[in-house]
Amino acid sequence: MTKYIGAHISAAGGVENAPVNAHKIGATAFAFFTKNQRQWKASPLTEESIELFKQRCEELGFNMNYIMPHDSYLINLGHPKEEARTKSRNAFLDEMQRCEQLNINRLNFHPGSHLNKIDIDACLNRIAESINIALDQTQGVTAVIENTAGQGTNMGHTFEQIAHIIDKVEDKSRVGVCIDTAHTLAAGYEIRTEEGFHKTFQSFEDIVGFKYLKGMHINDSKKELGTKVDRHDSIGKGVMGMTLFELIMKDERFDKMPLILETPDQELWADEIKLLYKLK
Ligand SMILES: [Zn+2]
Ligand SMILES: [Zn+2]
Repeated sequence: MTKYIGAHISAAGGVENAPVNAHKIGATAFAFFTKNQRQWKASPLTEESIELFKQRCEELGFNMNYIMPHDSYLINLGHPKEEARTKSRNAFLDEMQRCEQLNINRLNFHPGSHLNKIDIDACLNRIAESINIALDQTQGVTAVIENTAGQGTNMGHTFEQIAHIIDKVEDKSRVGVCIDTAHTLAAGYEIRTEEGFHKTFQSFEDIVGFKYLKGMHINDSKKELGTKVDRHDSIGKGVMGMTLFELIMKDERFDKMPLILETPDQELWADEIKLLYKLK
């Protein structure tokens, strides 16, 4: 098998429930939150939770290379104000350490926002510094930068911005990228046609490099090309069409990494996974 597909599933009741929920929908990869994503503080993972998580991943056949948690939406690693930035850095470090405890080797995050208080380059530099701080204090976990739709003052909606961050990260072996298909379209990259797909991913290769690609978020989009609005839709129900998904499934550059659905109707996840495998 070369394609590993799953969804961002619930870990309600404890991280040890994540592999069980992923298995129920026929997933071979999954994403989840290692803590409540809407709160700053979280109690530490218990020894029991950690052990059960590892044991269930093994029993249910989940390889750690295809598990990619998402960090809290509250975190802004490029925050213009020092106090708020420090709060975000501490929360991010805590999430990286949770991954370490669970033997997970990658954590996906949204780069950050300049909030119209600092310029783009200054914000990108702060994000890179935040990554450096977290990598210094952890081992074996890659910080995976997600491309964004560019909503509001969110950074990371161009490949150039992502390359800027990576350029300033000291340990290049532990920084990566996650491409979200809905964000890519909303950010202004036409990926729905065969020609647009090849052009976009050639430019990703030239500017960032496929060697940094550590996962994909596979989403349809309710919003059109270049709208800069982040609204996911179920596969085949939005403006994306099916060509993009077929091209991804047939393309070995997307082999051996978590391909994660963040589509809005969780009742459809099992069928969406089956559908994607059929496109291979
Ligand atoms: Zn995403
Ligand atoms: Zn999104």
